[in-house]
Amino acid sequence: MLKYVVEYEACALIFLIIVTVRFFCIRKYPSRLNTLFAVVLYCAIADIALDIASTFFLTYPDVIPLWLNYLTNTSFYTLQVVLPVLVLVYVLNMCNVWHGKYRLLWLSLAVAVLLILYVVNPFTKCIYSLVPTESGLELVHGAVFPLLFITCGIYLLASVVVVLKYKERIRKIEMYTILLFVTVVFLSIVIQIFLPNVLLTGVAISASITMMFFTMQNPEAMLDLVSGVFNYSALHEYLKGQTAEKRGLWVTAVDIGGIRRINSVYGLRSGNKIMRQAGDYLNKACGNNAMAFQMIGTKFLIISNNKKAHYEIINDVSTRFTKPWNIGDLQIKLIATIRYSEEPSCFSSSEDVTNLVDLAYAKAVGDEFGTTKPIGSALLEQSRRNMSVEEALRRALDTGRGFSLKFQPIYSIKEKGFCSAEALLRLTDAELGSISPAEFIPVAEKTGQINRIDGVVLDMACAFLRKHEELFSHGFRLLEINLSAAEFYHDTTALADEILKKIDGLESKICFEVTETAATTHRELLSDFMDRLIARKVLFAIDDFGTGFANITQLARLPFSIAKLDRSLIATEREKERIILNDVVNMFAHLGLETVVEGVETEDQALLAEKFGADEVQGYFFSYPLSEEEFVAKITEQEPR
Ligand code: C2E
Ligand code: CA
Ligand code: CA
Repeated sequence: MLKYVVEYEACALIFLIIVTVRFFCIRKYPSRLNTLFAVVLYCAIADIALDIASTFFLTYPDVIPLWLNYLTNTSFYTLQVVLPVLVLVYVLNMCNVWHGKYRLLWLSLAVAVLLILYVVNPFTKCIYSLVPTESGLELVHGAVFPLLFITCGIYLLASVVVVLKYKERIRKIEMYTILLFVTVVFLSIVIQIFLPNVLLTGVAISASITMMFFTMQNPEAMLDLVSGVFNYSALHEYLKGQTAEKRGLWVTAVDIGGIRRINSVYGLRSGNKIMRQAGDYLNKACGNNAMAFQMIGTKFLIISNNKKAHYEIINDVSTRFTKPWNIGDLQIKLIATIRYSEEPSCFSSSEDVTNLVDLAYAKAVGDEFGTTKPIGSALLEQSRRNMSVEEALRRALDTGRGFSLKFQPIYSIKEKGFCSAEALLRLTDAELGSISPAEFIPVAEKTGQINRIDGVVLDMACAFLRKHEELFSHGFRLLEINLSAAEFYHDTTALADEILKKIDGLESKICFEVTETAATTHRELLSDFMDRLIARKVLFAIDDFGTGFANITQLARLPFSIAKLDRSLIATEREKERIILNDVVNMFAHLGLETVVEGVETEDQALLAEKFGADEVQGYFFSYPLSEEEFVAKITEQEPR
């Protein structure tokens, strides 16, 4: 009879129990993956325990009845098949290709067949039989035994196929963990074939599960360790599940103000302590009918499953924040700005929810700080609309269709003709129709699509200039192109090189418009970028001057050639603001910059701009933005110069 080595399995069992205890001690967000992982843990523990027990029992046939011997062995072999099935179910869930009961039925089919074989095994002995020897019972494999390994192998291979097929839906680490999991188990089976007396499958299972625990199932990865509230990853996971089921959600956003002040006055430790108190409180307030998540910094999101719980929580939280919080002897007031939904909404993704909350808070400044207010339906609509616009942008960027340029001529007062123009982007989508840049540019900036868009505009603008060289003999000199502030978050050296390559030969015919706000927020990066382009004769204009609160001294340090004064400056009828416009034009003239007054809609405004000494004017009074053909016709109408 074989003398089995069970020590490795015993160690594996202890190891797995430690992992299990750890898993259950940490607060977990209730996801299907977590439940599945818990089931995997239980089954693995049972599997290893049964392996050890059955080996042990075999040596004491006098004490252990034969039926118990059959029962432990059969249970062990059953779990050997159930475990790979569970792994496959886990993987299907992870990849979000789990489609309910039918798949479960399908998956259980092989298990069911094996189960029947096991149940009848004591009579048929087709899988294994227990044969008495002098030193105990000996387990002898039957004709159907290899089926066990084949079934395991099929399920494990199926997991690999699913993971590889849907690898773009999961994180890399998840893919590698599952691949390694399967490899380790396969290896252990191979070793088992060559060393049948050394029990190793439990070791492989235990090692693989521990790996899973650390890479993808560690509940701590879903928690914010300071506040003790589930983090953004958990929110993402949670919403992924909820949105797949199209469930309506009641959301409440809570932004806690005052923590930063506590950090700076009382130190980070006190700040963290208070975050913990607030986090614990939010978790408790949620009870069983809601869940709290930390979106970012001091912003929390509570998702409730029903109306009653939703309103109770809002009430509870807003009341709690009227009272102070204690750290040691200190009594501290925190200010919660609360925004809640008034009806359950289905969200198509976690971004959908976070976009809505971002929008809700974008409006919560000044007096709105510390208030509790519903998220109006208009905001919900706007958030939805932004999502559709984002989709439309993606379609246009992917297909290369939908974008076009318009050209708004800019009138030179001195030369009495159109000397330059601004390239303005238009988007026409098959579903949404024509979308204004005032709407899609901010969306593109938020979603990071703006860089690609600016690139598309530059390509179209260069192609236009190369195609219509005749314009330059009719007094046209310069095309102004908008550059988004988002450009300056990236490596501006690479950006400058890329732009220079695109505009090769057209450098002196291009002027980039950078908004006043972007210019002062990214001064260092911008300065470097401008220097590189200016060395090659490209010009720069400050756009929308007068809309922000730019530091003029800082602006003056940047090598701008043109200042475009925002249309709000000319639109005003107030005498004092007119004086400001006059002074601004003078100031730029002294600094050596040309000025363009934007948004000139009437003759009076045009005359005023001239009187104040502006060099150029742009606006509907002179021309609307024109299509390529219209623009070329308009310029070529001018006397050749
Ligand atoms: P902007 O850079 O200030 O562009 C001028 C905007 O004022 C244009 O709006 C133009 O059509 C409009 N406009 C011109 N004259 C008048 C007027 O007399 N009265 C009034 N009320 N408006 C006038 P548009 O084309 O809708 O563009 C809106 C904004 O979208 C632009 O403001 C610019 O910030 C952004 N944008 C447009 N195209 C691009 C682009 O290619 N790239 C980037 N990054 N942003 C762009
Ligand atoms: Ca502009
Ligand atoms: Ca402008």
